Amino acid sequence: VFVVFEGGEGAGKSTQVSRLAAALEAGHDVVVTREPGATDVGARIRQLVLDKGDAPAPRAEALLYAADRAHHVATLVRPALARGAVVISDRYVDSSLAYQGAGRTLPVAEISWLSSWATGGLKPDLVVLLDVDPGVGLSRVDSRGQGQDRLESESRAFHERVRYAFLDLAAADPKRYLVLDAGRPADEISEAVLARLSGGLLS
Ligand code: C5P
Repeated sequence: VFVVFEGGEGAGKSTQVSRLAAALEAGHDVVVTREPGATDVGARIRQLVLDKGDAPAPRAEALLYAADRAHHVATLVRPALARGAVVISDRYVDSSLAYQGAGRTLPVAEISWLSSWATGGLKPDLVVLLDVDPGVGLSRVDSRGQGQDRLESESRAFHERVRYAFLDLAAADPKRYLVLDAGRPADEISEAVLARLSGGLLS
């Protein structure tokens, strides 16, 4: 079973990934992972894409995220799924559709094709979208001391486009998505995720 958490900055994805992993650990082989940067190759790509001083051009950035994802899927995600693990990833294809597509205004259909080529068509069984207003999310990140760069490097409009791209993707495929208000208490969010997973995907 492949579960992905998506959302803007400060949506609380990493908290929810950890909570879900802890809840499932007793009965399942659980693999927690993330994009970009879960593998050794990915960690080097992460440095390239997140280098604010020397940011790659939008198409180069899109290819770097795709390269990270191709390697991640081939060497970590598919082998884990093949042995029956529950794989929980912090970000996946939708982040590229939202950030590189809607955010950087590259054609979303092309990013979709690129992602599908990179992953060999691997789709998550469930995408949990933690929806947050960018103003609220960025101030949360900022209070952890990580936000200033991100606040300054991208405009509010960029983050708004990213938010609505995520929501549109979810609306287009409701069976595969669970959209939750990231402002709800963390334990309510985890309960909703567990309830959705126990309704068919996990025994
Ligand atoms: O999720 P995390 O905070 O590790 O993401 C790091 C940064 O990478 C975020 O600021 C996000 O804006 C960016 N990102 C991106 N495109 C992706 C994935 C992440 O721009 N496909």
